[in-house]
Amino acid sequence: MAKRYFHYDEIASEQSAGYTKALGEEFVPGPVDGEDLIRSRTQVAIVGAGPAGLVLALLLQHEGIDCVVVERQTQAYVETRARAGFIEHRVVEFLRQHGLSEGLDLRGVPHTTCEFRHGGSQYIVPYGDLSGGAHVVYPQQFLVRDLLELFTSRGGKVLFSHPAVKMEGMEDNRAVVTCVVQDSSDSPLQLELECDFVAGCDGFHGLSRTSIPSTHVMTFTKQYGIGWLALLAEVPSSMKRIVYALHDSGFAGQMPRTPQVTRFYLECLPGDLESEWPDDRVWRELRKRMAIDGENDLITGPIIERRVLDMRSVVTEPMQYGNLFLAGDAAHIITPVGAKGMNLAIADAEVLARALIAHYRKRDGTLLREYSKTRLPHVWRVQEFSDWMLRLIHSTDGSNEQAFSERLRRARLERLCGSNAYANLFAESYVGR
Ligand SMILES: Cc1cc2nc3c(=O)[nH]c(=O)nc-3n(C[C@H](O)[C@H](O)[C@H](O)COP(=O)(O)OP(=O)(O)OC[C@H]3O[C@@H](n4cnc5c(N)ncnc54)[C@H](O)[C@@H]3O)c2cc1C
Repeated sequence: MAKRYFHYDEIASEQSAGYTKALGEEFVPGPVDGEDLIRSRTQVAIVGAGPAGLVLALLLQHEGIDCVVVERQTQAYVETRARAGFIEHRVVEFLRQHGLSEGLDLRGVPHTTCEFRHGGSQYIVPYGDLSGGAHVVYPQQFLVRDLLELFTSRGGKVLFSHPAVKMEGMEDNRAVVTCVVQDSSDSPLQLELECDFVAGCDGFHGLSRTSIPSTHVMTFTKQYGIGWLALLAEVPSSMKRIVYALHDSGFAGQMPRTPQVTRFYLECLPGDLESEWPDDRVWRELRKRMAIDGENDLITGPIIERRVLDMRSVVTEPMQYGNLFLAGDAAHIITPVGAKGMNLAIADAEVLARALIAHYRKRDGTLLREYSKTRLPHVWRVQEFSDWMLRLIHSTDGSNEQAFSERLRRARLERLCGSNAYANLFAESYVGR
């Protein structure tokens, strides 16, 4: 096998330019049977260019710590993947402190109230006033684009279309991440990235978590047996706040995103197919479930994305193995009920960056050793809140006592609007203080 060493600076991040073309005359892939291998070295190999990976990359870059991000998808895909939109107060403050919030400050919209609808009543919770903080609504894909732009404009390297296919040596300080280089040529090309540390920021379906021997991790999973049809519609939000409608036919929600696009959710069966939910059925159900006393001012329009999500939560313990550290969805996923996944991912990246900086700058490995121990209590606190909220907004609780659950829900909503202590606890968890 022909092995050639390159510094990663020579590896272009522009997939459109073509990997081999970008390497120019220095590297010509050999014939298939002579399978070529490129080797490179960095201090921290970051797998995944989502919110966790990019925030980590920027914090390390700021401290002059060498890192490379490898990403399975193309840049265009990553920059347009619409998912989260609610950024917690604490995360907004953190992004501001580190100069990562320019786009969010320009185009994000602060939100301080949410509304529950149940049995013809509205329960409005001014969580911003109660907690002294606000959410900022800023679509995840915008944040990802901003972070990418910042990182690359400062000389950072993101290798798109480079899925990591193997991770080795994490347990004996010789970590190597192998990526397949997806270019248009037929020659199989591999990149071996040697590094001191691997940051597994590659989401729930990534490679990092599964690279840890099963004897060294425990995975805690909760399946709720509930589906959500997640929709994006090209319409302005009819209600200017987040709305959770609790209805006999199931939950319906509205989450503002941009002036032109709104996210809606409809509770459905976990196995439902998107094709079973044509536009007219979607709008009919949304109108019915979100109505107050039969009245509804829902603005309808084209649905531009629909996807069935399974309500489930997963936590991996510990979040590290040797020199591999998991962050974000790679370590835990959470139902989208409380809008927490991206916020947790960024919080993981913050703590991991602090630990790596202490290692490189102060030769102090304590924070790295304690990374998982530091993060897990927060992760479980957020899981607990999400679980509580899930039970609040769904009538399905595994039992057949629908009428009993119904009254429990009403009692919870009444306490939320009638008890300061109850409402404060909700507000604090919801806004992420
Ligand atoms: C419909 C929906 C709505 C949501 N709403 C909210 C919300 O309002 N608020 C909130 O906080 N969260 C929300 N979330 C959750 C949030 O989107 C995720 O928690 C967040 O994206 C996690 O960020 P991450 O960086 O950990 O992972 P990801 O964003 O998943 O990024 C991981 C990256 O790794 C890449 N990757 C995977 N495997 C490999 C590999 N082998 N090699 C290289 N790269 C790889 C992937 O392509 C991806 O780019 C929502 C999610 C969904 C689906």
